[in-house]
Parts: sequence; C-alpha cells; structure tokens
Amino acid sequence: MITVTALPAFSDNYLWLLERDGHAAVVDPGDAAVVQAALDARQLKLAAILITHHHPDHVGGLVTLAAATGAAVYGPRAEQARIKGLDGLVDDGDAVTLDRLGVRLDVLAVPGHTLGHVAYFEPRQRLLFCGDTLFIGGCGRLFEGSAEQMHGSLARLAALPDDTAVYCAHEYTLSNYDFATTVEPENRLLAEEFRRLQGLRAEGRATVPGSLARERALNPFLRSAEPALVAAVRRHEGHDIADPVEVFAALRRWKDGHQPRIR
Ligand code: ZN
Ligand code: FE
Repeated sequence: MITVTALPAFSDNYLWLLERDGHAAVVDPGDAAVVQAALDARQLKLAAILITHHHPDHVGGLVTLAAATGAAVYGPRAEQARIKGLDGLVDDGDAVTLDRLGVRLDVLAVPGHTLGHVAYFEPRQRLLFCGDTLFIGGCGRLFEGSAEQMHGSLARLAALPDDTAVYCAHEYTLSNYDFATTVEPENRLLAEEFRRLQGLRAEGRATVPGSLARERALNPFLRSAEPALVAAVRRHEGHDIADPVEVFAALRRWKDGHQPRIR
C-alpha cells in the first residue's frame, strides 16, 4: 500500500508525497524546502518527481530537489520546452512505473488549464493526481485551452471509478462551493456538503482528497448536461443555451467573474 500525505505550500497548494517502505515520490513540488523537510523528518529517499503542468507553483522546486536527491523527473512531453529538468517525457496512455514504490501510474492527457496538462492515476488504490484540472467542487481556469478541451478532460476524469480519491493541487474548495451554491441555491445536498466542508476548514483540516463519486454528484463543472445546471446558466446568461460544452463555458466565465462571499 502507498501512503499519500499532503504537504501544504504557499497559500493554498498541496504537494502530494507518496511513500512506501522508506521510498517516496512527490507530485508537483512547487517548493523544494517543503518537500526536503518532509523527506528528512520521515527519513525517506526520493525516487521520483511527477509533474502535471508547467506553472511555477507546481515545478518551482523540481531542479533543486532532483539535484539533491537524484530522483527521476517525469512530466508532460507537450510542455518539455517550458519545464527545465524533465528526464521522462510522458504522453496520454503512457504508464510511469516506480519500482521502488511498487506502483504504476497511468498518464491521462487533460488539456484545458494548460495545453499539455497531464493527470496521473493509480488504478489499484484508485488515486488520482489531477493538478489544476479537477478541484473539489470546481475546476481549473482556462489559461491555454478551450472550454471544449477542458470539458473533454473533465469528462475523462469523471469516467474513473466511483471510489477514486481526487488529489488536486489546491485547497480551493470553500470558494468553489461558494460559487456552486450561488449557481444552485436550492440544491440541498450541495448546501449540506458546503456546511460540512466549512466545518473541516474551521478545524484547520484539508478538504482534499475528495471522492470522485461526490464530484460527479455535486461539482457543477461535471454536471453541465443536467437540467438544473442548464436552467441556472440560462437564467444567468439571459438567453437560450443547451449544448453541454456551451453551458460549461458559460459556467466557467461566470465563476471567473464571481466574487466569493467567503474566503
Ligand atoms: Zn496551474
Ligand atoms: Fe496551481
């Protein structure tokens, strides 16, 4: 069994540490010092670094950590020009095998937030490391890709098994739920979950990972074909809109302009 631990960094990032029998891997080490401190405290040897996309809060500690530990660095081939220090270039459909941890991760291309963004999925324990693509109650901003690309990427992630644990890279959950409950003020399940998550945060606990089943049931960005969402987006846009990709695009724009009531 692999153990996964959140290493909080910056204001709201989680760097994910995978470990087994004294060996470790880290996903998106934005800050080398945070990872090094965890390795030292737990006496772990870093075998691998996995990168989802090129943004600095995900790759900032890569070069320092790789030099200090000799870890192999895997990241998206499509972003190789923008990420210094990649050893293993991965594409959609590839698998990354980490012998020291006895684990294999499947690579899924999930363009949208960036064009080369990838996610890593461990099928036995059903662990999904999805970077800035799917968040708890939300999704990443469209910095490089189109709404159609992001919609397709989220649909691929949503097709993974129900009990998949979603390890996203940011604690954005409460502001995502703030938006989701603005879109669907009548959705009782959403309101109940929002209260539960606010309770967790009030105790200083992480809301990540979440389950994929819950995301499929509650995350508005995975539900753009549902009548309730279509109706809400129609009201907001003030005109007819039905195509799920267009509903998704309108929802994403709505969120971009939304001022959270909480934070
Ligand atoms: Zn990002
Ligand atoms: Fe990020």
